Amino acid sequence: MTAPSENTPANAPAPGNSPLAKTMDNIVALARRRAFIWQSSEIYGGINGFWDYGPMGAALKRNLKDAWRKDIILCPGNGPDGKQLDVVEVDCTIIMNPKVWIASGHAAGFNDPMVDCKETKQRYRADHLSVIYAWDVDPESGDETRADWTFAFVSGDDTSFEKALKKARKRAKQQGSRVIDAPPVLPFTDPEIALTLARVVGPDADIPGTLTEPRNFNLMFETYCGAIQDESSKAWLRPETAQGIFSQFWNITDTCRVRVPFGIAQIGKAFRNEVTPRNFTFRSREFEQMEIEFFITHPDALKPGELTPKDWYEFWYKTRYQWWQDVGLAGENLQLRHHDKDELSHYAKEGAGVCDVEYRFPFTSPGFGELEGIAHRADFDLKAHATACGKGDKMRYFDQARNTRYFPHVIEPSAGADRGTLALLCEAFTPDPSRPSGVYMKFKPRMAPIKAGIFPLVNKDGMPEVAEKLHKELRGKYAIEFDEKQTIGKRYARMDEVGTPYCFTIDGDTLSTQTVTVRERDTLAQERISLDNVSAFLAEKIGE
Ligand code: ATP
Repeated sequence: MTAPSENTPANAPAPGNSPLAKTMDNIVALARRRAFIWQSSEIYGGINGFWDYGPMGAALKRNLKDAWRKDIILCPGNGPDGKQLDVVEVDCTIIMNPKVWIASGHAAGFNDPMVDCKETKQRYRADHLSVIYAWDVDPESGDETRADWTFAFVSGDDTSFEKALKKARKRAKQQGSRVIDAPPVLPFTDPEIALTLARVVGPDADIPGTLTEPRNFNLMFETYCGAIQDESSKAWLRPETAQGIFSQFWNITDTCRVRVPFGIAQIGKAFRNEVTPRNFTFRSREFEQMEIEFFITHPDALKPGELTPKDWYEFWYKTRYQWWQDVGLAGENLQLRHHDKDELSHYAKEGAGVCDVEYRFPFTSPGFGELEGIAHRADFDLKAHATACGKGDKMRYFDQARNTRYFPHVIEPSAGADRGTLALLCEAFTPDPSRPSGVYMKFKPRMAPIKAGIFPLVNKDGMPEVAEKLHKELRGKYAIEFDEKQTIGKRYARMDEVGTPYCFTIDGDTLSTQTVTVRERDTLAQERISLDNVSAFLAEKIGE
């Protein structure tokens, strides 16, 4: 007797199991249904921009962070100099001395332009808004001039665009003008819009002139340390993990056996009071970063023929782009985008460059959204902290091999663990109407929250005992699910929806032949392997 195939009538699709399209709504629904991601404090109506990970999501995100830690800190590859990379890890605090954020420039400059709507009380980021307009048609000459009102919408949001178009058409009808099928689009930040703000209808408003002028809004969350809440006790929650690394650079070089080139890496929470958190976890107010600051020789201290910041920058963006492919984002949904010169921040203008690894999420498609930024930040940060704490050049790094002092340059690959997890979820979502679940999650085995399911076919005849023994043998090595309830088809369907790559079923033949059926998630192929071989089989397939 073998485990029944999924095409047996017992496992036929349940009524209502229609094929699922790969849309954000369906991905969010699966994430909720299968314990990946829930709204934070959902029983109280949630809180905008904050998300909790359920058991499956926590395991998925943990696997992504563990892979990053292993590949960057524990077992890094070789650098462009052919030597093994040297990267050490830190775990810094979320609240730091506020002077850190003054020195880094965040206190003065970490702003987003915010626009409020007086009619609807909605808030938008000015650089995320666009406007369309209608055309007045002269009844006699047929000449077209731009109509009086313009209609704002949230860029990249189809629903918002459709809403603006509908309002523009309605107005055009009233005015005897018209809206062409593909009306021109202007960014809200265009100087022309500032002059005609009184005639702009907000994305959710009905009348014009209710949007305020853009105002700068600092994204750092404020808090107070200690019992007295005044200016002197004010502090910020860190908006990035990088500054903890920069401010501990000197302790690291004093106490750890590191020499330039080397890296300091950190995984940790960051907080940004985003004006418009949206697109599921993509733009959250609390999120986790995986950041590396890789310190290299100052170009002035380089001998001819030595590796330049440009060489290291190229090495890092290629390595990071490849890494995202290795964890499962290969294909046309992943791209590396080099920033144009005019996009660059002040410190990067003279540097080797800045680029982003980007993923085409369903809500950005056909465009892409940033997963990780890689920047050559020159010596901006170390110098800024050395200056701000009053020691200046005395804090320069001493390069023994060159017998000289300098502030090292830095290449910063800065990735988001939550955006990475979201990209893995979107990429893995694979509709398949032939399965009872209608969909399966095609995670790379290394990323899968559960590596294998172990199922006794029925809950009798010695099968649960064998299954339990196998479960005990494997559970210390892998994340394993033991399940003896429901029909085998339902158990497979559940494993498909959480992306478990292998399921082992203990059936009536197991006791006599000492074999189990292994079911492969992607191909649905089933084969029998020896009970003794299950551990080796998983080791080979999962590769950890
Ligand atoms: P964006 O332009 O999308 O706001 P950013 O350029 O400000 O992103 P960085 O400051 O470079 O982002 O931060 C590094 C990484 O941290 C990003 O690539 C992203 O993965 C993650 N990240 C930044 N802001 C958020 C957020 N609000 N929610 C989730 N992840 C974020």
